[in-house]
Amino acid sequence: MRSPFDAELEDRLVRYAAIDSRSDPDQSAQPSTAIQLNMARLLAQELTGIGAADVRITDYGAVLATIPGTAPGPVIGLLAHVDTAPQFAAAGVKPVVHRGYNGGPITYADAPGLLLTPEQSPYLAGKVGDDIITASGTTLLGADDKAGVAIIMTAARHLLAHPDLAHCPIRIAFTPDEEIGRGVDPRLPGDMGVDFAYTLDGGGVGEVEHETFSADGAVVTITGVSAHPGYAKGKLVNALHLAARVVATLPQATQTPEVTDGRAGFLHLTDMAGTAAEVRLRFILRDFERDGLAARGDLLRQVCAAVAATEPRAQIAVTITPQYRNMRYWLETDMSPVHLAHDAIRAEGLTPVVRPVRGGTDGSRLTEMGVPTPNLFTGMQDIHGPLEWISVQDMAAATRVCLRLVQLAAAQTA
Ligand SMILES: [Zn+2]
Repeated sequence: MRSPFDAELEDRLVRYAAIDSRSDPDQSAQPSTAIQLNMARLLAQELTGIGAADVRITDYGAVLATIPGTAPGPVIGLLAHVDTAPQFAAAGVKPVVHRGYNGGPITYADAPGLLLTPEQSPYLAGKVGDDIITASGTTLLGADDKAGVAIIMTAARHLLAHPDLAHCPIRIAFTPDEEIGRGVDPRLPGDMGVDFAYTLDGGGVGEVEHETFSADGAVVTITGVSAHPGYAKGKLVNALHLAARVVATLPQATQTPEVTDGRAGFLHLTDMAGTAAEVRLRFILRDFERDGLAARGDLLRQVCAAVAATEPRAQIAVTITPQYRNMRYWLETDMSPVHLAHDAIRAEGLTPVVRPVRGGTDGSRLTEMGVPTPNLFTGMQDIHGPLEWISVQDMAAATRVCLRLVQLAAAQTA
């Protein structure tokens, strides 16, 4: 059934999704792609149009704006990212609205044979009667995170149109380059100036995420001894053979992403390149706990040391670099932003779903930088691929939760 906000959310998502704003990890520019600024400029224009204050685009490509409070309370930030994942085609997205979903398979005009079914996407089974938005089969949809953008814009428009609603001050930030891990510029916390914030970048209805992985990156460089193969006897040390031994000695059956879920971490070889003279292996290390993450780094060092001990003429160097940390480490000293989200979800008649994120969010970095930032649901499902979809009614639920949250924050201060 259609509820208030449905038409606006549908219109916004369809319009935003059609704009290509993919980020690119191979570009060092900030933002990484100029096309992200097309989204930024449109959003700045629309924010000005609905009467938001302090609208500007920073020189690192984020759109900032203020919804002034109508009551005292904490300054709350609402964030979403404008970029879409580089992993899948994002040019020429043609959003399709499947009105009043009937529970059967969803087909795609541009990809005969491609099907979205409740069997492969069990969350879809609960959405009969909803309006489902998909892409047309050859691109992702980009609900990650244009759903977050649409929800924040709709909530902002509603608050500015209803000055009678008592709510705390709100700062909005639409950021670039989240998908490539560069969404939080060091200037962002100061520019936002908030007490705490929420990213609108989560999945199913009710989800509140206040735990993410802790993450390190590792580079292993293996230097062998190069020699003419015709005269190499007793001289050549082949770095490729040593790399193969390092990979084979690591615990593939128990500690790789393809065999872990829930709260288990992993050690993941992401790429390997080189020659008989020198090989470079890159890993990502993930764990929810600091000691678990350190143990994975130690394991990698031990394996490399053991392989190095078998060939003293080779050199094996291991460099481990911190990436981000579980936001729980900071949030657990003050859980009030998380509890406020739970209260708002319950007040809307929904059930909070607490689930650790097997990845990082912009909130992981922001929290570490002093802005506690849990992640809230938007409804997005099967992201980063052609099956990506979202229910308009889920987005409406997220919009109502945002509105409730900023009113509760004011009520709790009064
Ligand atoms: Zn996202």
